[in-house]
Amino acid sequence: MEILSPAKINLFLLVTGKRPDGYHTLFSLMAPVSLYDVLGVNFDCSGLSVTCDHPEVPSGESNLAFKAAALFFETARLEKQAAITIHKNIPVAAGLGGGSSNAAAVLNSLNIRFGNVFTTDQLMAMGAGLGADVPFFINSRPALATGIGETLELYDNLPQLPVLLIHPNISVSTAAVYKSLKFTLTKDKKISNILSFTKQTLFDAKAHLENDLEAVSVARHPEISEAKQRLLDSGATGVLMSGSGPTVFGLFSALRDAENAYHRLAGNAAPGEDIFLTTLLTDGIAAGKHGPS
Ligand code: ATP
Repeated sequence: MEILSPAKINLFLLVTGKRPDGYHTLFSLMAPVSLYDVLGVNFDCSGLSVTCDHPEVPSGESNLAFKAAALFFETARLEKQAAITIHKNIPVAAGLGGGSSNAAAVLNSLNIRFGNVFTTDQLMAMGAGLGADVPFFINSRPALATGIGETLELYDNLPQLPVLLIHPNISVSTAAVYKSLKFTLTKDKKISNILSFTKQTLFDAKAHLENDLEAVSVARHPEISEAKQRLLDSGATGVLMSGSGPTVFGLFSALRDAENAYHRLAGNAAPGEDIFLTTLLTDGIAAGKHGPS
């Protein structure tokens, strides 16, 4: 069974508070994009194994996909029986949710293989124990996220816009970004606009693109604002860093414009930088849910 595991971007991300256990609470509009890792799942084996072809991602037990599969088999009281391979296309530790997506893909595909043992809500609850973004990838549909990211309300008002991603060749630690965050929820007009955003609100790049984590990452890595500027100069209608970065994205109103920008930017990419032409997946391709190919 070969399954696709999409990346996500955060169209806005406000940090709304800090829980007593140290986790930050968020309000975020998340959307999947058409950049995929490819997972292979073979059931003609005994035991559980996960191998990954990316040098910075562990194979075996510490891979999030392994933890997801182990949790599935234990909760379903089934004997562990899956050999999983992961081909990474999504940059790692990039603010694109790759590990969480892989974990959700495994939960979805095992659930299908073993006859829908769990409901979608049960899979989301299992995913929440693995990582705050995992429940989002069980559906992989645009959604408003609250809590630490695990409470989701589907958002159906997003157009299927083309999106260019630039992943600068730098590493950003999510934990370090949150640690340096000076938490002050300002009362400026843009922030109150976003705080009143509901699933009925129409997304408007000018009014709503905002990421509270961006200033922290930009202060350490000027490459991030420089990549945003290149996207704007190439015709993007709005640009932002995704999650804790360092990936930045540019929204385009027409595919032709995004393709032209992609060719221009890819031709002049900095060493080690990745550039991807994608679209928002407004109808979703739930990680691991589309079955055998
Ligand atoms: P986060 O904000 O949760 O760190 P991210 O999208 O920025 O998410 P990921 O690509 O998910 O980052 O990787 C985060 C870390 O998780 C990396 O250090 C990586 O080694 C580890 N990891 C474990 N399993 C996986 C996996 N299947 N795919 C990617 N990374 C994984």
